[in-house]
Amino acid sequence: MNNASPRPDAATVAGIEQEQFLAILSREEALARFEAALFPRPIALDERLLGEALGSALGADVVAPIDVPPFDRANVDGFAVRSADLAQAGEAHAALLALNDERIACGTLPGLAVSPGTATPISTGGPIPRGADAVIMVEHTEPAGEGIEVRRAAGPGQFISYAGSDMARGETLLRAGTVIGAREVGMLAACGIAVVTVARKPRVAVLSTGDELVQPGAPLPPAGIYDTNGAIVSAAIAENGGEPVFLGAFPDDEAKLEAAMRAALAQHDMLILSGGTSKGAGDVTHRIIARLGKPGIVAHGVALKPGKPLCLAVCDGKPVVILPGFPTSAMFTFHDMIVPVLRRMAGLPPRTDAHVAATVPLRVPSELGRTEFVMVSLVEGREGLVAYPTGKGSGAITSFTQADGFVRIEALADHLPAGTQVEVTLFTPQVHVPDLVIIGSHCTGLDRVLAPLARQGLSLRSLSVGSLGGLAAARRGECDLAPIHLFDDKTRSYNEPFLSPDLELVPGWRRMQGFVYRKGDARFEGLSAQAAVEAALADPACLMVNRNQGAGTRILIDALLAGARPDGYWNQPKSHNAVAAAVSQGRADWGVTIAPVADAAGLGFIALTEEHYDFALVSARRERPAVEAFLSALRSPEVRQALEEAGFRPA
Ligand code: AMP
Ligand code: MG
Repeated sequence: MNNASPRPDAATVAGIEQEQFLAILSREEALARFEAALFPRPIALDERLLGEALGSALGADVVAPIDVPPFDRANVDGFAVRSADLAQAGEAHAALLALNDERIACGTLPGLAVSPGTATPISTGGPIPRGADAVIMVEHTEPAGEGIEVRRAAGPGQFISYAGSDMARGETLLRAGTVIGAREVGMLAACGIAVVTVARKPRVAVLSTGDELVQPGAPLPPAGIYDTNGAIVSAAIAENGGEPVFLGAFPDDEAKLEAAMRAALAQHDMLILSGGTSKGAGDVTHRIIARLGKPGIVAHGVALKPGKPLCLAVCDGKPVVILPGFPTSAMFTFHDMIVPVLRRMAGLPPRTDAHVAATVPLRVPSELGRTEFVMVSLVEGREGLVAYPTGKGSGAITSFTQADGFVRIEALADHLPAGTQVEVTLFTPQVHVPDLVIIGSHCTGLDRVLAPLARQGLSLRSLSVGSLGGLAAARRGECDLAPIHLFDDKTRSYNEPFLSPDLELVPGWRRMQGFVYRKGDARFEGLSAQAAVEAALADPACLMVNRNQGAGTRILIDALLAGARPDGYWNQPKSHNAVAAAVSQGRADWGVTIAPVADAAGLGFIALTEEHYDFALVSARRERPAVEAFLSALRSPEVRQALEEAGFRPA
């Protein structure tokens, strides 16, 4: 090899500055660089009305400006007395007191002193009159002529709260950095404070990038994606002490984006973008940041999964971050890398997350060299909590709502063996183990059965891991029921042949499978399913969509095709919905899916045969109240009717 002059690589030719992205930093190193470029820095302060201070951190110590209570105060309804007058009082000896001619209610200033041998009626909260040093309860007195009779002694100070006994003027009540909650608001109100000095919430501009993005509420054009990160990031900022200012989604247009980013940075304390941080041709945000201020990018490319393309920058003292585009990646990198910095700028203590111990039921693969976050759902197993990975990849958002928390797999591990003890960081402070756990194949019909159970107050969890995954979970005792739809080729029957001795079959419902096509396609209108397939095979321009190996539907399709392999055969999505989407969007002309899904997509449907969707019940769990509730809901006329209306045929 000689030292030939280096040839520019493709990226340089394309004008992309990639130096930073090539140097992937560990999570710890990236965070350390980011923090070093930002801190120490003074915390900006703000004055807030008490009613608007909730959730802010106090910016300065609060010293009590008055005594609370401000005067000596009666704690009970009764009489203000001189304790010396009652020194001899007892069961055998009644003390007689004359009543002074006033009644001290809350808010009344006493006018008369309590002189020896007298008492003044007083209400709870009333100021103690001059001369009195105790209060006796009305219940412990009897009327006697013009006065009262008392048959028990009272010590000095009885039933009196002295001025300043709660908060003393000059006492430090709350320290800077305390997060203002309802209790702190109460203390501040009690001593008359209407305006507090708080750490100013950092104003964080949020900007989504991508030509494909559409705001929720607007119709979704073909190839459009709803802007998820704008909402997620704004909410997460508010949860962590910032004030989000969402500026919308911007197309990947370098000039427009640069103008928007400059304006945003000038008016806010921090700028968070998402998308456009990878090496794609349209990804321009990181190139702009390099021009926004010093020192610029401190990390681009972090050994995180999800979240590798994260870009961290500091531009003239302000943090500028580009989160990865995929919403789950954006969320994790935000929580792991941005939250610590945001909270510090907001004067808040570090986030305290709750953790629980659990085991993973399956081998969890992980990429060597990257700190990996795996979302998990918790269920009760035979020996404690079991953490089910719920992720469907970094592009999936549903994993969030099903997950109770996440597991962090360190960069040096390439997998977690099944049965590994893990520490789960919870998304909410408490784990709530659900009353009923259903793990297996998902069907929209299931929602019809679960709805009445949720109304009864049962907490439910259904994890979709496919029929076989459900059966395995049931055998391990991790769920109550496993919904399955497995066709056994040998016996030509559904589900029953797949059960093991500890499981029993609960019939669910039937789902009509059919040939689907776009309504009005003259090639198929009015034909039987077999004739429609023949028509499709006869037209070389006709494109099919298949199903994955192992799906019951796939067996049907292969039978219909009788060995033919038409164009589209290798397009093998894993769900009924994906088949309907492919046909309705014109990526295929025909496929096989179930009737409710075809209806929802507005497709033409030619009935073929019924698929059986049943439940494998863990026999040992049959008596559990939530299982009984499920079984009776399944048989109830209302649920059966709801299933029928949704296009299913209850068994
Ligand atoms: P990018 O980093 O821009 O290449 O985006 C990676 C993926 O995330 C693409 O599938 C984008 O459509 C998607 N994506 C980017 N931004 C958003 C967003 N704000 N909301 C939802 N998906 C997004
Ligand atoms: Mg993009």
